[in-house]
Amino acid sequence: MSKIIATSAIKGAHSIVGQAEEQLNKTIEEKGENQILEFPDTGYYLPIIYSMTGIKVEKLGDCKEVIEEAKKLLPPVPSEKIWIPYLGGTLDAGIATLWAEEIIEAIKYIDDPIPVGGIWLGAAADLIIRERGIEFVDGTAPGFAACVGAASSNEMAVKIARELQEKSIYVFMTGSTNGVSMAEQLAQEGVELGWDTRLVPFGKDITSTIYPLGFAARAAMSFGGVQPGDFRRMLMYNKDRVFAFVLALGEVDEAKYANAAGAINYGFPTIANTNIPEILPRGVCTYEHVVSNIPEEEIVSKAIEVRGLKITVEKVDVPVPFGPAFEGERVRKENTYVEFGGNKGPAVELLVMTDSSEVEDGKIEVIGPEVDDVEEGTVMPLGIFVEVSGRKMQEDFEPVMERQIHYFLNYPSGIFHMGQRDISWIRFSKDAVNNGFKVKHIGTVLHAKMHADFGSIIDKVQVKLYTNPEDVQALIGRAGKIFKARDERMGSLTDERVDTFYSCTLCQSFAPNHACVVSPERPGLCGAYNWLDCRAANEINPTGPNQPIQKGDTLDDNLGVWKGVNQYIYKASNQNLESFSAYSMIVDPMTSCGCFEVICTILPSTNGVMAVNREYTGMTPSGMKFSTIAGMVGGGIQTPGFIGISKFFITSKKFIKADGGLKRLAWMPRELKEEIGDAIEERAQELGLENFLDKIATEEDAQTEEEVLQWMEKVGHPALEMEPMMQ
Ligand code: SF4
Ligand code: ZN
Repeated sequence: MSKIIATSAIKGAHSIVGQAEEQLNKTIEEKGENQILEFPDTGYYLPIIYSMTGIKVEKLGDCKEVIEEAKKLLPPVPSEKIWIPYLGGTLDAGIATLWAEEIIEAIKYIDDPIPVGGIWLGAAADLIIRERGIEFVDGTAPGFAACVGAASSNEMAVKIARELQEKSIYVFMTGSTNGVSMAEQLAQEGVELGWDTRLVPFGKDITSTIYPLGFAARAAMSFGGVQPGDFRRMLMYNKDRVFAFVLALGEVDEAKYANAAGAINYGFPTIANTNIPEILPRGVCTYEHVVSNIPEEEIVSKAIEVRGLKITVEKVDVPVPFGPAFEGERVRKENTYVEFGGNKGPAVELLVMTDSSEVEDGKIEVIGPEVDDVEEGTVMPLGIFVEVSGRKMQEDFEPVMERQIHYFLNYPSGIFHMGQRDISWIRFSKDAVNNGFKVKHIGTVLHAKMHADFGSIIDKVQVKLYTNPEDVQALIGRAGKIFKARDERMGSLTDERVDTFYSCTLCQSFAPNHACVVSPERPGLCGAYNWLDCRAANEINPTGPNQPIQKGDTLDDNLGVWKGVNQYIYKASNQNLESFSAYSMIVDPMTSCGCFEVICTILPSTNGVMAVNREYTGMTPSGMKFSTIAGMVGGGIQTPGFIGISKFFITSKKFIKADGGLKRLAWMPRELKEEIGDAIEERAQELGLENFLDKIATEEDAQTEEEVLQWMEKVGHPALEMEPMMQ
């Protein structure tokens, strides 16, 4: 290894640690050691420091110990004459840099809840990490690129961003070169920034590089079950599972080098477009650590090659950029050229299996006017009718495939899709239409993606697109009967009526000891997989993450314990769990990976439970925020008194059946109550409970456990009369 690197990185580290110490002392002088120090909405304290040392920094004073540790890690600045044969000291200097920078960034939050302005987003809440983490789990996002500095021109910045987006890689932007940052370059070109487009501007200071690395640290703790302080496992987890790299754009100074040294610890290599000294393979890393002098045109493909990312992009023949990264893009009203459905006109989408003789693969027909026949601002009716055939196709797969229409139609840039069935809503942006996107391209996208994702069960796909009101109404009529029949089929499925459940181990890539057991009345905790979905997925991919589980003998009807399920769980949890109850949150409850939509927690003194959804960031009566509880429940461990579940499960007949069921529900955020209120009402009526919905408190009625109890006494909540939950 070159001594220049060691010298640069170590010098940079000394200066950043010094800066952090100075700022810390100054702030302690002003505010005192007891001043609270935290990033917003996180249960992981200062996550890099917490993950590596286990130190919970909560107050300014807690940082003193961290600075001392950082100083111990700092090697002396090597004299120009000494040759350093190994990387150790430089790596340590990188770690010290990250700890110091985390302190510097956190101090910014003391006086200002949003210390960053303009396009910058700053620290991300746990909510975002969880939401985005699932994309790393299910493979929609292969990794992230931490882009530091600025490209040589705005056009080049856009090109690099688009190239990464098309490969579904998150783009995390920090730092600047000569006062300019890549995020600013994109903003100047009118590119939409934010988590939804995967172009995330964290901060302009180089110290904000701790945000992408803190993201990685939190992913390891929340999805990988890595214990805080387990330095080695955290870094190995990231090296093996989070496919990230650093793109150093423009001049690399000492501070940037020190950050690169920090990233190398995670196994994240740095690829630079300037001529800086390289660090080549050595020790645990089998690939290069720093690769320099790569022209910007090639920097993305070089990074992917160096980091060993496997990416498959199918080319879909549409006149706009295409890929899952464009999923989150919104098309605002003022940018809309034409729209379909919403509450402005009829729109429906239907997918059915049809006899092979009636399907001509790749045939796409537009029946009625095209976009170039209508003026800007028009609302058109739309009927999307997809017919598929294939020897392995079954009627049960229809809804599963139909639901993918939503995802597929969000992939083209400038196209927006919401809803499903006969409440779908689509917008084409002016840009997309100007680039030549037409109604017929809906067919192009669906044909290509259905083949790509369901190639093992279908052979042929044809698409009819109706844009005349009479045809659309006729399709709505036909679809209505089919939707009804499908709902009845799912509604009549109970856990008792089937002898096979399904596993989902999709999240094991992040939470190695977790598996969801999906039954007709209990979907996966992320809400994305129900029993029919898993069954279809198993037929489509028999060796995939959804395997049939024979229930076998019933060991406990009330708790929901079956011999076959236990045997499965023992294996799937790597011998960590011997028994699991589907219907209890007290006795051997199901584990969580971290993707739960809702966490249900016992409120001991009330005899009831609360349910809190991921979107709710306020305090709950349990005394903890969602993010804090999530930290206790995730990672594949059983936590009696807590379960992670889907929203749908709350109104299932099997919801904590063994513990008393829905009747126990005493508190939930108002937003969640509004969302699933109708279903709760319906289920409460089946249980013979009067005005039950009104008896559930929200944050507006009660904020502490004591207030929940008072509220329950006031309204006469039925849980008060029930047996104690825990004996
Ligand atoms: Fe992950 Fe469970 Fe959802 Fe499967 S069902 S994706 S294992 S949370
Ligand atoms: Zn998960």
